[in-house]
Amino acid sequence: MIRATMTSFPHIADHLTEIRAEIAKAAKSAERAVAGVTLIAVSKTHPVEAVEAALTAGQRVFGENRVQEALEKFPRLREKHPDLELHLIGPLQSNKARDAVQHCDVIQSLDRDKLAEVLAAEMAKQNRRPKLFIQVNTGEEPQKAGIAPGNVDAFVAHCRDTLQLPLVGLMCIPPVDQHPAPHFALLGKIAARNGLTGLSMGMSGDFVSAIQCGATHVRIGTAIFGKRG
Ligand SMILES: *Cc1c(COP(=O)(O)O)cnc(C)c1O
Repeated sequence: MIRATMTSFPHIADHLTEIRAEIAKAAKSAERAVAGVTLIAVSKTHPVEAVEAALTAGQRVFGENRVQEALEKFPRLREKHPDLELHLIGPLQSNKARDAVQHCDVIQSLDRDKLAEVLAAEMAKQNRRPKLFIQVNTGEEPQKAGIAPGNVDAFVAHCRDTLQLPLVGLMCIPPVDQHPAPHFALLGKIAARNGLTGLSMGMSGDFVSAIQCGATHVRIGTAIFGKRG
């Protein structure tokens, strides 16, 4: 009898091995502990089978950028893998806040007052407190979500002190046409002066630089799962 192969995505395990090695190397050269860098496997647009292949390879932390897609893929996987950790890394509409609070462990795209208030209300209602990152628009790009660097301190104070949200860090997506390192450095500076330790920065193309600049979470999609369709 021919056994069905465990997965039709054998490359994913290899990619994960390579990425983990690169993360370890980057951490070492930055004289940082490798355990201080969490790899978030960004599985958006990729099928459940691809996520399963990553789970089989030991990956437990995943990122999705749409609540709807996260809902379609993850509740079932979580039954089998209760230690799975799901991060929402894409824009969150207020009317999806309930689902996001219910199904995500971390929400990285807190980017406005209204959303902060809706999340605070949902967390109280559900008695569930996913950790939060504030998205910062380090490049001040008009088309991009995120709090402008100059407004972050006040927003942090509002979220943490007034709304008592479980804030853990900052997240950024640097402009595609610029060197990312100055953006990573800026994010680190803003986080440090606000007493936030989480730094979600670095994607497939720039995670080594992000780790050099202190990233605690790197969000990697393409380099693990391949190109998105
Ligand atoms: C898609 C996405 C990523 C992953 O990008 P890759 O270049 O595929 O690694 C990281 N962060 C956010 C916010 C994303 O939307």
